[in-house]
Amino acid sequence: MTIKAFGYAAHSASSRLAPFHFERRDPKGDDVTIEILYCGVCHSDLHQARDNWKNSIYPMVPGHEIIGRITAVGREVTRFKIGDHAGVGCMVHSCLTCDACEADLEQYCRCGATFTYNAIDPRDGQPTYGGYSDRVVVSERFVVKVPAGLDLKGAAPLLCAGVTTWSPLRHWNVRNHSKVAVVGLGGLGHMAIKLAKALGAEVSLFTRSPGKAEDARRLGADAIVLSTDAAQMEAVQRKFDLIIDTVPYAHDLNPYVATLAIDGALVLVGYLGDLEPALDTIPLIFGRKSVAGSLIGGMAETQELFDFCGAHGIVSDVEMIRMDEINEAYERLLKSDVKYRFVIDMVTPKA
Ligand code: NAP
Ligand code: ZN
Repeated sequence: MTIKAFGYAAHSASSRLAPFHFERRDPKGDDVTIEILYCGVCHSDLHQARDNWKNSIYPMVPGHEIIGRITAVGREVTRFKIGDHAGVGCMVHSCLTCDACEADLEQYCRCGATFTYNAIDPRDGQPTYGGYSDRVVVSERFVVKVPAGLDLKGAAPLLCAGVTTWSPLRHWNVRNHSKVAVVGLGGLGHMAIKLAKALGAEVSLFTRSPGKAEDARRLGADAIVLSTDAAQMEAVQRKFDLIIDTVPYAHDLNPYVATLAIDGALVLVGYLGDLEPALDTIPLIFGRKSVAGSLIGGMAETQELFDFCGAHGIVSDVEMIRMDEINEAYERLLKSDVKYRFVIDMVTPKA
């Protein structure tokens, strides 16, 4: 028996998201059924709802920062029971047999990971629908446990904004006294600051927005660099071991590469596409620097992040919205006007 579900969907690149009734699959033996309580709003939702990446499938129910309560478990489920709190992030399936999957890097699955929405599930040929909805059915392999005591609203953004910044912090071995910079103070950027700080790093923020300095300090930044101020950029030349760049649009990387120390890496997580202006390789060669990219994080790494956040009491700073406020939230996201993640409250409207 399929499960009736209700959510908000985009029906074209230019239409507002609107109420949408649809069906979830008949749960299989390894599936859990989750009543969605909260869902974060990622800038990727906006990119895909508006077909910025030219791969959108409509109708589209976005949302990949899902926190909910388990309402049913299949016969083969071992890690969850009814009533548990659980999280679903950006992926719901991968081949689990390739070298990437075996190395807990399901996001780089050679067969292609199946994303939580805007994808076709290879198991049944049906579109996947995300978390701007009331329930979801997912294999327990792609579900994380939420540590007791973690605020559920603030935990939702850990599933994408959190793990997308956690993964490069871990891969590039950030630890005590590492010098880390974050470009852009939005959803990903604010999590990057909190997580880098908790790992012991000295953290700087590059921002275009002078008004965000006070918040950045409160979130854990030791220094704020206004990227439009040449003198401030000059003062941090050759400083950073790792820069996490969360800017969603094409921008000039050269001024940031100049601030990398020898062996430093600038990791792009925000922008997909050709660089404009071009990247000057001379500073890379003359400093053994790297420019790299990184995609979300694997399931084990996502659970590691949840456990770390549980132990350190780290959650996202959220602005709660109702589902029918999503279109206004998108307009504010476009203006970088969010502190620092919108989260859709699926509980209160039902109460
Ligand atoms: P967000 O909340 O909108 O934050 C982006 C921040 O970038 C803004 O707050 C702003 O910070 C800065 N910014 C925005 N437009 C800019 C521009 N034109 N030039 C320079 N800086 C600009 O977005 P988000 O949810 O954090 O997502 C950031 C990007 O990461 C999106 O493109 C999203 O699709 C992508 N993403 C990637 C992954 C992955 O796995 N790699 C995962 C999730 C999201 P300031 O005001 O401080 O300058
Ligand atoms: Zn996301």
